[in-house]
Amino acid sequence: MSNTYWQEELETLPRRQLEELQVKKLRDSIARALISPYYGKLYGELGITPDTIQCVEDIRKLPFTVKDDLRSSYPYGMLTCPKDDIVRMHCTSGTTGNPAAVLYTRHDLASWANLLARSMYAVGTRPSDIFQNMSGYGLFTGGLGFQNGAEALGCMTIPAAAGNSIRQIKLMRDFGTTCAHSVPSYLGRLHAVFVENGLDPRKDTQLKRLFIGAEPHSEETRLRIEELFGAKAYNSFGMTEMNGPGVAFECVCQKGMHLWEDCYLLEIIDPETLEPLPDGEVGEMVLTTLDREAMPILRYRTRDLTRIIPEPCPCGRTHRRIDRIKGRSDDMFIIKGCNVFPIQIERILMQVPEVGSDYLITLDSNAEGDTMLVQAELQPTMFTDDYKQLEALRKRIALKLKDEILVTPAIQLVPPGSLPRSDGKAKRVVDNRKN
Ligand code: ADP
Ligand code: ZN
Repeated sequence: MSNTYWQEELETLPRRQLEELQVKKLRDSIARALISPYYGKLYGELGITPDTIQCVEDIRKLPFTVKDDLRSSYPYGMLTCPKDDIVRMHCTSGTTGNPAAVLYTRHDLASWANLLARSMYAVGTRPSDIFQNMSGYGLFTGGLGFQNGAEALGCMTIPAAAGNSIRQIKLMRDFGTTCAHSVPSYLGRLHAVFVENGLDPRKDTQLKRLFIGAEPHSEETRLRIEELFGAKAYNSFGMTEMNGPGVAFECVCQKGMHLWEDCYLLEIIDPETLEPLPDGEVGEMVLTTLDREAMPILRYRTRDLTRIIPEPCPCGRTHRRIDRIKGRSDDMFIIKGCNVFPIQIERILMQVPEVGSDYLITLDSNAEGDTMLVQAELQPTMFTDDYKQLEALRKRIALKLKDEILVTPAIQLVPPGSLPRSDGKAKRVVDNRKN
């Protein structure tokens, strides 16, 4: 395996030195955070100073920060520098009330771009590559984030933005795109447009690498995407509060995502007791920024559920890996007493070759209790009106789902392209139950 690094020394820093670096950067981040109205008041009351931290475990002496803290200090309550030093803001989608907004200095943008360059380089992307970003631009961090990262690496970039599949395909073919970024849920639809136009992305493009992230997806979905496009698909994790994409990224081993520990401090806690969990156990990820000027965020409860992969990675990077995100703790729904994550349903559906890439879960209630309907689109090639054949397929899916989630949902197989589409992240669950 060829081990090539963007920043070899930092990426392979022995753990002890990496932790020393984290302690130093954490102390600096606390000093910086104390300048902000929010942390200044909170830490002032609790007597927290840089000296509170002598080793990485001392992070546990700090209180957690939650999304509501970001909302209540919106827009400038966590700022640590003069407004003149800010060069950009991004925010989460936040459909009700204040969103969580993040402010960046020049340093912050450069540091963020560097992490994305490091991530893309790790999977073989080089300045000779042509990078197409099929992610929404604007306030969503997947657009400008990857844009600046690919430019920092030196790729030619095509800021195609989300949607408009015909144009995506044209740009891809005319300019010879070799790598692209997208939410995974878009790629099934893009593939369908290739097929409708008599094209096969495996033969009719030069795609080698796809970066997929920003929404939960299963290993089965990744394998499907790789098969459809004849390209490797690498998992990319990030969130606006932590800059955006570039927080954790898969290497060529494709076994978990290296979380860049020189820039983020990683903890996994039990979301009920809030106590730290041992490496390997699934819990809520808590992240602390270690390299942010304008707006350090300390001990942020991400709500994302994952685990640390304890074994060292064969690629030689010493930054620990996190496993595929299982979902956000708030994605989980309870039906007939069973806890279900949408990703469990996705995994099963994607194992069925007749099923396409889009599905929708609808929860409702009637006099007898809660109901659950899973609608799954069929593959264009599999679509048939042979009732017997469809019935047999429905039964097969129902049995597999029952095995996985212990509940038997109603299943509807629908024609390709019939479920609602979104240009950004896909909406997979509609909960109409009244609480
Ligand atoms: P919003 O909250 O508006 O969706 P973000 O784009 O910041 O804004 O969303 C970040 C969230 O997206 C993460 O907290 C996580 O739940 C999800 N996410 C990002 N990348 C991945 C990934 N690779 N796998 C699973 N979920 C992801
Ligand atoms: Zn690795």
